[in-house]
Amino acid sequence: MSVSSEEKPSSEHPVEIGPAPYYHRSDCNICRKQDGLKTGSVLLDSGRPGGYIVEGEHFLAEHAPLQESSAGTVILEARRHLLDFGEMTPAELAEFGPTLHRLIPAIKAATGVQRVYYLAVMERAPHFHLWLVPKKNEGELLGAAYLAQQPPLSTSYGEAEAMARKIRELFEQS
Ligand SMILES: [Zn+2]
Repeated sequence: MSVSSEEKPSSEHPVEIGPAPYYHRSDCNICRKQDGLKTGSVLLDSGRPGGYIVEGEHFLAEHAPLQESSAGTVILEARRHLLDFGEMTPAELAEFGPTLHRLIPAIKAATGVQRVYYLAVMERAPHFHLWLVPKKNEGELLGAAYLAQQPPLSTSYGEAEAMARKIRELFEQS
């Protein structure tokens, strides 16, 4: 029996690909979240405190899930279903840099940190999203150990909402 004749599990639930320009996939939790659909993930379905911080033509930014981030942690995500920089269009690339150029100082000013860590692994959803983690000047942990600490950093809805609002104000003023 050849490999191609085996029935693939995905054939039971055909993946729907949404319309241009974002080509959202029905099996991608980030696409589903952007479309206002439930994902089944507690982290994604619990709502984003303070709404979107940035609503660009090609990228969105929002506060990270409360259960695994400190207040002021932001996720910058592509609107289009794409994995990485190699798949970005010139227009997406042209928006990405200037967005970070304004967003990083806004996060630093709002949270009072000296630096912002970056993390993008795309293991849970193959859809480009970049974590922007304010590195708090507390404890001994640095670098990857800071990002991987257990239990993870967490925050409250109220704190995250206030921080999201502050970061958005600073971003829009810049
Ligand atoms: Zn997606």
